[in-house]
Amino acid sequence: MKDAKINATVKTLRRAARAWRLPIVTEMVQTHRDPFRVLISTMLSLRTKDAVTEIASRKLFALADTPAAMMRLTPREIEQAIYPVGFYRTKAKNILKVCKQLIDEYNSIVPDEIDELVKLPGVGRKTANLVLTLGYKKLGICVDTHVHRITNRWGYVRTKNPDATEMALRAKLPQAYWIEINDELVALGQNICNPISPKCSQCSVSAWCDRVDVTKHR
Ligand code: SF4
Repeated sequence: MKDAKINATVKTLRRAARAWRLPIVTEMVQTHRDPFRVLISTMLSLRTKDAVTEIASRKLFALADTPAAMMRLTPREIEQAIYPVGFYRTKAKNILKVCKQLIDEYNSIVPDEIDELVKLPGVGRKTANLVLTLGYKKLGICVDTHVHRITNRWGYVRTKNPDATEMALRAKLPQAYWIEINDELVALGQNICNPISPKCSQCSVSAWCDRVDVTKHR
């Protein structure tokens, strides 16, 4: 994809995405724009379907929605609230570790800097960027598997992993698109540009896509 095409691509995607459901963490901030909830829900969402993340988040936040309240729960109580999210036992432990660190080192306030966020247990750049963009409305680019796969298929970046994709996008994607690109590409990835055999014949941005390494499509 030539750089000049990115404007047309994002604008087309913006329109297409209106027909799709938003990613679950984005949907949940429409009612609670709280960096702590964004942080915990994103931790729950890793390797977990949106429908499961949604129920687990609601059950957990009904019990506790601050670091101090969360610390009053036992690991078992958290596990029971969040089951069956992927790796629920590890996530329950990490949630308690995160809450303790927030209380001990950050005065119970979720940091608003990536370099601080990634010091929290179980928090990588994807989660950190989402806390910045959704929790604080600060600039960031949340690169998950969908953003990584699709921007490489477009030929807009050529990278080996999501962290490298984030750096490549920070260098060339216009800042106006940084926050929205995650929602749009997650939706495109879930509905059209699937990992195996993408539905290119139904794709609204196919005119600008180089289909790099796409060997089979519908
Ligand atoms: S044209 Fe195909 S490979 Fe390219 S973004 Fe659309 S679905 Fe994905």
